[in-house]
Amino acid sequence: MSEPAWRASILTLMPGMFPGPLGMSLSGDALTRGVWSLEVHDIRDAGIGRHRSVDDTPAGGGPGMVIRADVLANAIDMHIAPDDARPRFLMSPRGAPLKQARVRELSAGGGAIIVCGRFEGVDERVIAARNLEEISIGDYVLSGGELGAMVMIDACVRLLPGVMGADTSGTEESFENGLLEYPQFTRPREWEGHAIPEVLLSGDHAKIVAWRREHSLALTKQRRPDLLTEEEP
Ligand code: SAH
Repeated sequence: MSEPAWRASILTLMPGMFPGPLGMSLSGDALTRGVWSLEVHDIRDAGIGRHRSVDDTPAGGGPGMVIRADVLANAIDMHIAPDDARPRFLMSPRGAPLKQARVRELSAGGGAIIVCGRFEGVDERVIAARNLEEISIGDYVLSGGELGAMVMIDACVRLLPGVMGADTSGTEESFENGLLEYPQFTRPREWEGHAIPEVLLSGDHAKIVAWRREHSLALTKQRRPDLLTEEEP
C-alpha cells in the first residue's frame, strides 16, 4: 500500500494514550485502511540521565514543572525530518482557538506535527526555535495536550476523502457555512406525541431547504450570535 497522504506525528510524554479513541469508528477504520497514518513519539526518548528527566522547576518560582527546551527540541529533531513541510503545532490554551475553517484547511494538506504539553507547559524558548504554532481547543485548561491533539486529528480525519459516507456529508454541518446545523429528525414519524415537521416529509426540496436555512439561522441567533458577526476566515 502506498504511504497515506495525511500523516499525523505526535510528540508526547504519554504515548500510551494513542491511538485511543482515534483507533475506533470512522477514524479507526480510516487508519486501518491507510487513509491516514499516526506516528507517536515519546518526548522522554530525549530525556536526560538515567531517569530520562524531561522537566524542571519554573524559573522565577511558582508551582509545577516545565518541560525543558533542550529536551523537547532534541525530541523534535530526533523524530521529525528538518525538511518535513507539515505544519507544526503546540497544543496550548494560549493558542488561537481551533475553528472548522482551519480544520478544513489542515485536512486538505499533508497532515500535522503536534507537540503535546504536560505539567505547567513548555519552556517558552523552544516554541519559536522549532517554529511551533500554538493552538487551543477551547477556553479551559486540560492536564495535557493529548486530548486536544486527538480532537484536532479527529476533526481533520473525518473530512479526508473516503472517510465519511456521502461526499457531501460534512459540507452542510455546523460551522461550515457560518451557521449551526438545523434540527434533524428520523423515524418514527410520531414519538411521545411529537411529530416530525410536516415540511420535511413533503418531498418539496425547495421548501425543505428554506425550512432548514430558517432554523439554522434562528438557532445561531439564539445560541451563538457571535458566529453571525464573525469575520470570514
Ligand atoms: N500553565 C498552562 C497550562 C498547562 S496545561 C497555562 O496556564 O497556560 C498542560 C498542557 O495541556 C499544556 O501545555 C497544553 O499542551 C495542554 N492544554 C491545556 N489546555 C489546553 C487547551 N485548551 N487546548 C490545547 N491544549 C491544552
